Amino acid sequence: MYPYAVTARILVLGAGFAGLELSTILSEELGERAEVTLIDQSDSFMFGFSKLDVMFGHASSASARLPYRNFVKPGVRFRQETITTIDPNARRVKTDAGAYDADVLVIALGADYDVSTTPGVVLGENEFYSVAGAERMRELLPTFAGGRVVIGICGAPYKCPPAPSECALMLHDYLVERGVRSSATITLTTPLPSPVPPSPDTSRALVEAFGERGIELFTNVRVTSVDAERKIAVLDDGRELGCDLFLGVPKQRAPDVVIASGMTENGWVTVDPRTLTTRFEGVYAVGDLANTGAPKAGVFAEGAARAVAKNVIAKFSGGDETAKNPGAGSCYIEFGAGRIARVDVDFFSGPKPTGTFQEPSPALRAEKQLFGASRRARWFGMNG
Ligand SMILES: Cc1cc2nc3c(=O)[nH]c(=O)nc-3n(C[C@H](O)[C@H](O)[C@H](O)COP(=O)(O)OP(=O)(O)OC[C@H]3O[C@@H](n4cnc5c(N)ncnc54)[C@H](O)[C@@H]3O)c2cc1C
Repeated sequence: MYPYAVTARILVLGAGFAGLELSTILSEELGERAEVTLIDQSDSFMFGFSKLDVMFGHASSASARLPYRNFVKPGVRFRQETITTIDPNARRVKTDAGAYDADVLVIALGADYDVSTTPGVVLGENEFYSVAGAERMRELLPTFAGGRVVIGICGAPYKCPPAPSECALMLHDYLVERGVRSSATITLTTPLPSPVPPSPDTSRALVEAFGERGIELFTNVRVTSVDAERKIAVLDDGRELGCDLFLGVPKQRAPDVVIASGMTENGWVTVDPRTLTTRFEGVYAVGDLANTGAPKAGVFAEGAARAVAKNVIAKFSGGDETAKNPGAGSCYIEFGAGRIARVDVDFFSGPKPTGTFQEPSPALRAEKQLFGASRRARWFGMNG
């Protein structure tokens, strides 16, 4: 515990990986002396990877939703409200229920989906990145009797670079189990040059797994539109792919309310990648919406949130603000048949990003389970 009185009003916008971790640390370190308000429009949190589980029927949506009413931390009050305006100069935020002034403002509203520039991609209909989309796929997939499936990415950067590859491998298993794999084709298209660019070994292992399963991979291409009537997905190089079922990864950017605040460039908030400070005094941006150059993934959001929490405490307790966003983290990758691999990615230590691959193993399956369970316990007090 810190010896100094912290009297700052700390306003945290968004209770995802970044907002939950940041608020938890502030509560742990400051206890009742923290004056933290955490705002989110939703009543519950869901891990990104749980969307794949929901989609393929491995978990119910209800069990994957972690209700914010269970996020109970000394010194932190949670408000379920929608943020409607952010004034970073005044550190003033309006919601659908009121207004808040802050000494420290942390914006952690994640990446939003922008389907306006990809005709034919409809949220909650033919994508699997939103909760509604994953739930819709869960209804739709059991009715799929065969045909051409395209898993298509509509823009980069996007959350969790390995997730579309995981989706392809899990879809293969799902169709095999249902006895319809031989009457289906699976094509994955990505704007990236390989499935996981910082880690050639991970990319190689994924490409090999695709080859073994007859999954076709197109790299360096983006889906620009989907035409349900003509049953095609159109790529940015002009190619048209026959498509009976489209599983989309929508184009992403910071939420509209953040863009309207004037803090973004090219759709993302400009920050110092190592401190997450913005050009506005006392205003930080953390997680997927911040342009740090590191991947948009929960583990990276958490690492950044830890650095901000330490520096915010230091700022108000007379300490040195020396904590740095590591830009490093481990991502678990579903390789199909319940096998899980890991890639340890590091974006800031060397001259270029690196990624070390660990082959799928039972130990990594247990590790991934622990990753989820430990956050459920730490943030939501849910054991088991
Ligand atoms: C299919 C899939 C699989 C994934 N797998 C992994 C994985 O295995 N490992 C990993 O590390 N990451 C994974 N991710 C990525 C991970 O989910 C995100 O990177 C992470 O959630 C980002 O955290 P964040 O705090 O920045 O934003 P989020 O977790 O997105 O939180 C943002 C919050 O802001 C709230 N919000 C937005 N706008 C408003 C508003 N106007 N008013 C009020 N509240 C608002 C939202 O409700 C949300 O709760 C995956 C993502 C997907 C989609």
